[in-house]
Amino acid sequence: MKDFPLISPCDYTLKHYVGFIQLFINNEEHEYPIEIKLDDPSNIKTATIYSEKLSNLLEDNKKIISQMLQNSSDLNTFLIDLKDLLEKKEILLSSKKYPLKYISKMIKEFDEIGWDKISNLKSDLHSLTLNINDSYNRNHKLDLIFPYNYNTEVIQIKADIPEKIDNKYFINELSKIVDFYKNIFDKYNNFWSQLEEIDKKTWVIEPLNPPRSSNYRRIIIEKKCSINIQVNPNNPRSFPIYQFMGSDDLVQKWTMILINKQHQWNINISIYENLKKILNIEFPQKEKMSLSDISDACGICYSHYLTIEKDDKLEKLLPDKQCKNVKCSQPYHYKCIFEWLRSLTTTKKSFNYLYGKCPYCEEMITLPIN
Ligand SMILES: [Zn+2]
Ligand SMILES: [Zn+2]
Repeated sequence: MKDFPLISPCDYTLKHYVGFIQLFINNEEHEYPIEIKLDDPSNIKTATIYSEKLSNLLEDNKKIISQMLQNSSDLNTFLIDLKDLLEKKEILLSSKKYPLKYISKMIKEFDEIGWDKISNLKSDLHSLTLNINDSYNRNHKLDLIFPYNYNTEVIQIKADIPEKIDNKYFINELSKIVDFYKNIFDKYNNFWSQLEEIDKKTWVIEPLNPPRSSNYRRIIIEKKCSINIQVNPNNPRSFPIYQFMGSDDLVQKWTMILINKQHQWNINISIYENLKKILNIEFPQKEKMSLSDISDACGICYSHYLTIEKDDKLEKLLPDKQCKNVKCSQPYHYKCIFEWLRSLTTTKKSFNYLYGKCPYCEEMITLPIN
């Protein structure tokens, strides 16, 4: 069988399979003899599973397994689900970190929300990921970190959403967590739809691979000019906070257009449609231009994107500082020009600003110290 090379049919009737199922538990591989009998070889729902070594597990999960059989299209996909379930159960049952009472409570809760919603279950049972679908078919991941003292402390929850949730009111029941977050995910449907349309129909240069928590997009308008918009998660179709970036004359031109036509903003249509109508443009697509058409590379590191670490994640940033001398206009990454100015003895520091010379034209650059 495709994903189970150790399991094969006994004869040409395809009614009887024997072999071994391999379970990966706590970084070790275990092989269990298994036997599958089908009344009707073309109908997986008629299957019965036997395994002496796994008999307790199979018996305990009879209901879930029969549900899996109902939902599977063939033997291979059924065995994938079965393997996943047995592995998680074995991890839970072989754990010695928590008392048995706690483990059986956990098993009950997993039964309730569905084992297929759980992934990344670590052998110390200290963390796992919940996979939750919202009502609009988006899949979300919720990272849970369990306290070592289950009775008195709360579960820490990391969610990729545009707001901070205070979890301290949570009682430790997974089904309540699932319901609670499903509501929150649904609440942001319109916000995510707006951004998804922009991601699909325009060329977003920042952030690359945006997380769902991100509420801004930097979109290419034309050569040497982009617009950075910040969408209000609670009122996503309202007029966004914006800033044009690029060469001075273009920034001025587009800013004037948007200011003069701001009153035409229509909250009944999407942000993308509004921008398209008001700016009266077709947004450039990525395939039609290269990055160097859009913005110059940083004058210090010579790259477009600088990778930085922010909140445990890697982010790629375009140059966001520019020399104010119109004849120079050299762009720099903030971090690059900051390090450069700080290393020069001629640079002056006053209050929260650095005053130093542009490495290209020697004009004065003023840089806030973040
Ligand atoms: Zn740089
Ligand atoms: Zn300069």
